[in-house]
Amino acid sequence: MRFSRLRLNGFKSFVDPTDLIIADGLTGVVGPNGCGKSNLLEALRWVMGENRAKAMRGDGMEDVIFAGTSARGARNFAEVVLQLDNSDRLAPSGFNDSDLLEVVRRITRDAGSAYKVNTKDVRARDVQMLFADASTGAHSPSLVRQGQIAELINAKPKNRRRILEEAAGISGLYQRRHEAELKLKGTETNLARVEDVVEQLA
Ligand code: ATP
Repeated sequence: MRFSRLRLNGFKSFVDPTDLIIADGLTGVVGPNGCGKSNLLEALRWVMGENRAKAMRGDGMEDVIFAGTSARGARNFAEVVLQLDNSDRLAPSGFNDSDLLEVVRRITRDAGSAYKVNTKDVRARDVQMLFADASTGAHSPSLVRQGQIAELINAKPKNRRRILEEAAGISGLYQRRHEAELKLKGTETNLARVEDVVEQLA
Protein backbone atom coordinates (compact mmCIF):
# COMPACT_ATOMS: atom_id res chain seq x y z
CA MET A 1 0.00 0.00 0.00
CA ARG A 2 1.50 3.37 -0.94
CA PHE A 3 0.37 6.98 -1.31
CA SER A 4 -0.27 7.65 -5.00
CA ARG A 5 -2.17 10.93 -5.18
CA LEU A 6 -3.08 13.91 -3.00
CA ARG A 7 -5.88 16.29 -3.89
CA LEU A 8 -6.57 19.50 -2.00
CA ASN A 9 -9.45 21.90 -2.28
CA GLY A 10 -9.76 24.96 -0.05
CA PHE A 11 -7.16 23.56 2.38
CA LYS A 12 -5.06 26.40 3.88
CA SER A 13 -3.26 28.24 1.05
CA PHE A 14 -4.50 25.70 -1.58
CA VAL A 15 -7.71 27.56 -2.38
CA ASP A 16 -8.07 26.13 -5.89
CA PRO A 17 -8.39 22.38 -6.50
CA THR A 18 -4.83 21.01 -6.62
CA ASP A 19 -3.96 17.51 -7.75
CA LEU A 20 -0.54 16.04 -6.93
CA ILE A 21 0.67 12.71 -8.25
CA ILE A 22 3.00 10.98 -5.76
CA ALA A 23 5.34 8.93 -7.92
CA ASP A 24 7.34 5.86 -6.87
CA GLY A 25 10.52 6.57 -4.92
CA LEU A 26 11.56 9.70 -3.09
CA THR A 27 9.43 12.84 -3.43
CA GLY A 28 10.87 16.27 -2.75
CA VAL A 29 8.86 19.45 -2.36
CA VAL A 30 10.78 22.63 -3.14
CA GLY A 31 9.68 26.25 -3.25
CA PRO A 32 10.22 29.68 -1.74
CA ASN A 33 9.41 30.48 1.89
CA GLY A 34 5.70 30.57 2.59
CA CYS A 35 4.62 28.87 -0.65
CA GLY A 36 2.84 26.03 1.18
CA LYS A 37 5.36 23.16 1.54
CA SER A 38 4.48 22.54 5.19
CA ASN A 39 0.77 22.90 4.36
CA LEU A 40 1.14 19.89 2.05
CA LEU A 41 2.57 17.73 4.83
CA GLU A 42 -0.18 18.97 7.14
CA ALA A 43 -2.80 18.02 4.53
CA LEU A 44 -1.40 14.47 4.60
CA ARG A 45 -1.56 14.32 8.40
CA TRP A 46 -5.01 15.89 8.44
CA VAL A 47 -6.58 13.42 6.01
CA MET A 48 -5.12 10.59 8.11
CA GLY A 49 -7.15 11.81 11.09
CA GLU A 50 -5.13 14.48 12.90
CA ASN A 51 -7.47 15.91 15.52
CA ARG A 52 -5.23 18.45 17.28
CA ALA A 53 -5.67 21.93 15.81
CA LYS A 54 -2.34 22.98 17.35
CA ALA A 55 -0.56 20.33 15.26
CA MET A 56 -2.06 22.07 12.23
CA ARG A 57 -0.65 25.40 13.49
CA GLY A 58 -4.18 26.68 14.19
CA ASP A 59 -6.36 27.58 17.18
CA GLY A 60 -9.35 25.57 15.97
CA MET A 61 -9.72 22.92 13.29
CA GLU A 62 -11.65 25.29 11.01
CA ASP A 63 -8.42 27.27 10.63
CA VAL A 64 -7.43 24.76 7.94
CA ILE A 65 -10.13 26.26 5.66
CA PHE A 66 -8.82 28.91 3.24
CA ALA A 67 -9.25 32.11 5.23
CA GLY A 68 -9.34 34.54 2.27
CA THR A 69 -6.99 37.26 1.05
CA SER A 70 -7.48 40.82 -0.16
CA ALA A 71 -8.10 39.35 -3.61
CA ARG A 72 -10.25 36.29 -2.77
CA GLY A 73 -13.02 35.55 -0.32
CA ALA A 74 -12.76 32.89 2.38
CA ARG A 75 -14.01 29.39 1.59
CA ASN A 76 -16.70 27.56 3.48
CA PHE A 77 -15.11 24.12 3.40
CA ALA A 78 -11.80 22.35 2.92
CA GLU A 79 -11.31 18.90 1.49
CA VAL A 80 -8.29 16.62 1.18
CA VAL A 81 -8.35 13.35 -0.75
CA LEU A 82 -5.57 10.80 -0.36
CA GLN A 83 -5.37 7.97 -2.86
CA LEU A 84 -3.57 4.80 -1.87
CA ASP A 85 -2.37 2.23 -4.34
CA ASN A 86 -3.41 -1.08 -2.78
CA SER A 87 -2.47 -3.36 -5.69
CA ASP A 88 -0.20 -5.30 -3.28
CA ARG A 89 -3.34 -5.91 -1.19
CA LEU A 90 -1.57 -5.04 2.04
CA ALA A 91 -4.33 -2.76 3.37
CA PRO A 92 -5.64 -3.78 6.80
CA SER A 93 -8.67 -6.05 6.80
CA GLY A 94 -11.95 -4.24 6.29
CA PHE A 95 -10.34 -2.01 3.67
CA ASN A 96 -8.68 -4.62 1.51
CA ASP A 97 -11.24 -5.31 -1.19
CA SER A 98 -9.97 -3.02 -3.97
CA ASP A 99 -6.73 -2.01 -5.71
CA LEU A 100 -7.30 1.64 -4.94
CA LEU A 101 -8.31 3.26 -1.66
CA GLU A 102 -9.57 6.80 -1.63
CA VAL A 103 -9.69 8.46 1.78
CA VAL A 104 -11.56 11.78 1.94
CA ARG A 105 -11.80 14.24 4.80
CA ARG A 106 -13.92 17.33 4.47
CA ILE A 107 -14.51 20.06 7.01
CA THR A 108 -17.37 22.53 6.67
CA ARG A 109 -17.68 25.68 8.78
CA ASP A 110 -19.89 25.04 11.83
CA ALA A 111 -20.41 21.40 10.80
CA GLY A 112 -17.08 19.73 11.63
CA SER A 113 -15.26 16.97 9.76
CA ALA A 114 -16.64 14.05 7.79
CA TYR A 115 -14.63 11.12 6.44
CA LYS A 116 -15.16 8.68 3.58
CA VAL A 117 -13.23 5.66 2.40
CA ASN A 118 -14.10 4.64 -1.18
CA THR A 119 -17.29 6.77 -1.02
CA LYS A 120 -18.50 5.06 2.19
CA ASP A 121 -19.00 7.24 5.28
CA VAL A 122 -16.63 6.20 8.07
CA ARG A 123 -15.66 7.51 11.50
CA ALA A 124 -12.45 9.40 12.27
CA ARG A 125 -11.38 6.41 14.36
CA ASP A 126 -11.76 4.04 11.36
CA VAL A 127 -9.41 6.20 9.31
CA GLN A 128 -6.95 6.53 12.20
CA MET A 129 -6.95 2.75 12.69
CA LEU A 130 -6.56 2.13 8.93
CA PHE A 131 -3.30 4.10 8.97
CA ALA A 132 -2.13 2.87 12.37
CA ASP A 133 -2.53 -0.74 11.20
CA ALA A 134 -0.54 0.19 8.09
CA SER A 135 2.18 1.56 10.42
CA THR A 136 1.70 5.18 9.51
CA GLY A 137 -0.76 7.98 10.36
CA ALA A 138 -1.09 11.55 11.54
CA HIS A 139 1.29 11.00 14.46
CA SER A 140 3.73 8.82 12.57
CA PRO A 141 7.37 9.70 13.22
CA SER A 142 7.97 9.17 9.50
CA LEU A 143 6.36 12.58 8.91
CA VAL A 144 9.00 14.89 10.28
CA ARG A 145 7.91 18.38 11.34
CA GLN A 146 10.28 21.34 11.65
CA GLY A 147 11.95 21.14 15.05
CA GLN A 148 10.99 17.49 15.55
CA ILE A 149 14.55 16.13 15.41
CA ALA A 150 15.56 18.40 18.31
CA GLU A 151 12.44 17.27 20.22
CA LEU A 152 13.37 13.65 19.59
CA ILE A 153 16.92 14.07 20.85
CA ASN A 154 15.57 15.58 24.08
CA ALA A 155 12.67 13.12 24.41
CA LYS A 156 12.28 10.60 27.24
CA PRO A 157 13.07 6.96 26.30
CA LYS A 158 9.36 6.06 26.67
CA ASN A 159 8.43 8.55 23.96
CA ARG A 160 11.23 7.38 21.68
CA ARG A 161 9.84 3.85 22.00
CA ARG A 162 6.92 4.84 19.70
CA ILE A 163 9.30 4.92 16.74
CA LEU A 164 10.41 1.35 17.42
CA GLU A 165 6.79 0.28 17.86
CA GLU A 166 5.87 1.71 14.49
CA ALA A 167 8.86 0.02 12.84
CA ALA A 168 7.69 -3.25 14.42
CA GLY A 169 4.21 -2.70 12.91
CA ILE A 170 2.38 -2.69 16.25
CA SER A 171 1.08 0.90 16.31
CA GLY A 172 -2.48 -0.32 15.68
CA LEU A 173 -2.27 -2.79 18.58
CA TYR A 174 -0.83 -0.07 20.81
CA GLN A 175 -3.81 2.19 19.96
CA ARG A 176 -6.28 -0.63 20.68
CA ARG A 177 -4.58 -1.38 24.02
CA HIS A 178 -4.88 2.29 24.96
CA GLU A 179 -8.60 2.25 24.11
CA ALA A 180 -9.08 -1.00 26.09
CA GLU A 181 -7.33 0.56 29.11
CA LEU A 182 -9.63 3.60 28.95
CA LYS A 183 -12.69 1.30 28.80
CA LEU A 184 -11.36 -0.72 31.74
CA LYS A 185 -10.87 2.45 33.79
CA GLY A 186 -14.43 3.56 32.94
CA THR A 187 -15.81 0.19 33.99
CA GLU A 188 -13.88 0.29 37.28
CA THR A 189 -15.33 3.74 38.01
CA ASN A 190 -18.85 2.49 37.22
CA LEU A 191 -18.33 -0.55 39.49
CA ALA A 192 -17.18 1.67 42.35
CA ARG A 193 -20.29 3.79 41.86
CA VAL A 194 -22.53 0.69 41.91
CA GLU A 195 -20.85 -0.47 45.15
CA ASP A 196 -21.55 2.94 46.72
CA VAL A 197 -25.22 2.73 45.72
CA VAL A 198 -25.51 -0.86 47.05
CA GLU A 199 -23.92 0.25 50.35
CA GLN A 200 -26.38 3.13 50.65
CA LEU A 201 -29.30 0.77 50.04
CA ALA A 202 -28.06 -1.83 52.57
P1 ATP B 1 8.74 27.84 4.91
O1 ATP B 1 9.67 27.45 3.82
O2 ATP B 1 8.94 29.27 5.36
O3 ATP B 1 8.66 26.87 6.06
P2 ATP B 1 6.35 26.78 3.61
O4 ATP B 1 6.58 26.66 2.12
O5 ATP B 1 6.44 25.53 4.40
O6 ATP B 1 7.24 27.92 4.23
P3 ATP B 1 3.73 27.00 4.68
O7 ATP B 1 4.09 27.24 6.11
O8 ATP B 1 3.26 25.64 4.28
O9 ATP B 1 4.92 27.46 3.76
O10 ATP B 1 2.59 28.02 4.19
C1 ATP B 1 2.40 29.23 4.80
C2 ATP B 1 1.40 30.02 3.96
O11 ATP B 1 0.11 29.41 4.07
C3 ATP B 1 1.29 31.42 4.51
O12 ATP B 1 1.34 32.31 3.42
C4 ATP B 1 -0.08 31.44 5.16
O13 ATP B 1 -0.69 32.70 5.04
C5 ATP B 1 -0.83 30.43 4.32
N1 ATP B 1 -1.97 29.87 5.05
C6 ATP B 1 -1.97 29.08 6.15
N2 ATP B 1 -3.22 28.82 6.56
C7 ATP B 1 -4.04 29.45 5.69
C8 ATP B 1 -5.46 29.58 5.57
N3 ATP B 1 -6.30 28.98 6.41
N4 ATP B 1 -5.94 30.33 4.55
C9 ATP B 1 -5.12 30.95 3.68
N5 ATP B 1 -3.78 30.86 3.73
C10 ATP B 1 -3.25 30.14 4.71
